[in-house]
Amino acid sequence: MFSLTTTTAEQTQGLGRQVGSLVTSGDVILLDGDLGAGKTTFTKGLALGLGIKRPIKSPTFTIIREYQEGRLPLYHMDVYRLEAGGGDELGLEEYFTGDGVSVIEWSQFVEDELPADYLMIQLRRMATNENVRQLSFVAHGEHYQKIIEQLEDLNHE
Ligand code: ADP
Ligand code: MG
Repeated sequence: MFSLTTTTAEQTQGLGRQVGSLVTSGDVILLDGDLGAGKTTFTKGLALGLGIKRPIKSPTFTIIREYQEGRLPLYHMDVYRLEAGGGDELGLEEYFTGDGVSVIEWSQFVEDELPADYLMIQLRRMATNENVRQLSFVAHGEHYQKIIEQLEDLNHE
């Protein structure tokens, strides 16, 4: 696990951008955190890191938005509004086995559909200041462990 703290939305976006530059085809990134934690902010940066210039909109109502114009396709999902057990109807497996990078906000709602390997990023608001966020990166599988190591190298003082 690798953790760090950000104090502005831009910093969180910057970390997303780094992750966007490190991911490869078929990667799955889970974003865990309460409303307003910064999941969509992080995804905006990740999209920039993939070279996507079109603005990222929160897929809260559409559940999935696809962006095809970057280095790799981005499948941005927010499954908060899914009915319980509605994950199987989305055909998530096709996204996970596709060429693109899947980013899932509120992934706990589709727990049963998730692949064995993924990068989980937990975003936590700190009580001390409303702009402080702690981001923890947890790898499931060797591929994502390598991404975390590269991220550590990029952020080490
Ligand atoms: P979520 O998708 O998790 O619901 P959003 O990314 O939509 O959250 O919203 C996060 C809000 O918090 C934005 O308004 C953003 O500007 C603000 N914010 C303040 N500080 C930070 C920070 N350090 N990291 C991320 N967002 C921050
Ligand atoms: Mg969001």
